[in-house]
Amino acid sequence: MESGQASRGQFVIVIMMGPPGAGKGTQAQRVAERLGLAHLATGDLFREAMARHTELGRQAESYVKRGEYVPDQITLGLVRERLSQPDAQAGAILDGFPRTLEQARGLDRLLAEKGATVDKVVYLDVPEAELARRLGGRWTCRRCQAVYHEVFNPPKTPSVCDVCGGELYQRPDDTPAVVQRRLEVYHQQTAPLVQRYDAAGLLVRVRGDLSPDEVTEAVLRAIGDW
Ligand code: AMP
Repeated sequence: MESGQASRGQFVIVIMMGPPGAGKGTQAQRVAERLGLAHLATGDLFREAMARHTELGRQAESYVKRGEYVPDQITLGLVRERLSQPDAQAGAILDGFPRTLEQARGLDRLLAEKGATVDKVVYLDVPEAELARRLGGRWTCRRCQAVYHEVFNPPKTPSVCDVCGGELYQRPDDTPAVVQRRLEVYHQQTAPLVQRYDAAGLLVRVRGDLSPDEVTEAVLRAIGDW
């Protein structure tokens, strides 16, 4: 693919996979911007709905707080809705979805209705010890969801987002006990998806433990290389 825009002239779907803390959010946001695709992050959508106290937010809250997955049907409904919005016309980078086999099957059905399929799955590989370290010092923008780290990627001004000036906060599910639970749930439920997409010849592994810019370039190369 040429850099700058999605060039396949159809609905492009790239899945960004990896454990919590691998850098999916940061990379998906950058890559979506570079390729002119929507950034569809189910975790961000759940947090927004919770902050606005919508019906979806109420349904998701108890799961998100415990580090458990929101039920598949609720999650699939959310993704269907988001993919029908105007900024997703050319397609999307999926960040944090699908996370279960049922969600992956649901995604295939949903895309089939549009005559589309998953184009590529990028797996961000980061050693486990590094994940726990990253999640510990993570700060997130309340407004635009940009992610910082107090040691590895600090904002220019403490507590203020470089991108939009929004306030930075620490996600309540980034506490050590919930981080541990999120890593466990990931290994039980999401790791099997890696095998599924690998068997389908769609998976490409990218090292996620390099600098954010190096990872972005590696992801773009991996996507362009279909
Ligand atoms: P994330 O921001 O991707 O780490 O997601 C934060 C939390 O939102 C997760 O721990 C889950 O509780 C919920 N969540 C996000 N995406 C999904 C998904 N695809 N399926 C189920 N729950 C999800």
